[in-house]
Amino acid sequence: MRVRVLGCNGGIGDGRHTTSFLIDEDILLDAGSGVTRLALEALEKIDHIFLTHAHLDHILAMPPMLDSVIGRRERPVTLHALPEVLEVLKEHLFNWHIWPDFNRIPSKEAPILRYSPIEVGQAVRMGSRELTPIPANHVVPAVGYLLRGERGSLIFSGDTCSHDALWNIAAEVGDLRHLIVECSFPNAMREIADASKHYCPATLSADLARLKLGVPIWVTHMKPGSEVDIIVELDDLVNSRLVQTLREGHLFEI
Ligand SMILES: [Zn+2]
Ligand SMILES: [Zn+2]
Repeated sequence: MRVRVLGCNGGIGDGRHTTSFLIDEDILLDAGSGVTRLALEALEKIDHIFLTHAHLDHILAMPPMLDSVIGRRERPVTLHALPEVLEVLKEHLFNWHIWPDFNRIPSKEAPILRYSPIEVGQAVRMGSRELTPIPANHVVPAVGYLLRGERGSLIFSGDTCSHDALWNIAAEVGDLRHLIVECSFPNAMREIADASKHYCPATLSADLARLKLGVPIWVTHMKPGSEVDIIVELDDLVNSRLVQTLREGHLFEI
């Protein structure tokens, strides 16, 4: 399983893109502005989109992407998300007001978009690949994902603040190769982080102490312009653990 980082920022500016990962050639994990890096030929090959939640920075490239590939694909694109997330998208996005209902076009019988509800803890298997939604603690219904390839596993926290399940799962996964975890704000903005249910270094470092030593920690979803402060603050707090900034273009092979 090859996981390519298309976007991993908490905002835009100076070439930054919001959250999206390309898994092999056919799966998108979140569909933030990072998707706009892909060529039209690459967009056509995407059969599945898995979402963490419905916030705009994680879905904003999906509507124009579907518009771009309509008429260029024989099969529909399958959107995997929590039932609550699918309902929000149907009601507020694919409602003809903001964007057409791609579950009805080009026809109701053969739409370009079909929905597939996911459930926390229930793995979706695709050949030798496995994507399992894991709990998250955010202001809206949200999940992270445990990705399992032939060589090991990777955990992506999604948008979240502190909660036990993420760290219990991280401790239980024997072949964990990488942890990608959000840390959206520096400590100076802790009030905003807590109110919007995101991590800041103070809250994340306390939880990271529960992670096995030796698992690389990749920090994502940082507020533009605050990246250095966040990493310095984390470095000060999590001695002997390897904390790295996740960068667009990075490739994980698991
Ligand atoms: Zn969010
Ligand atoms: Zn977000």
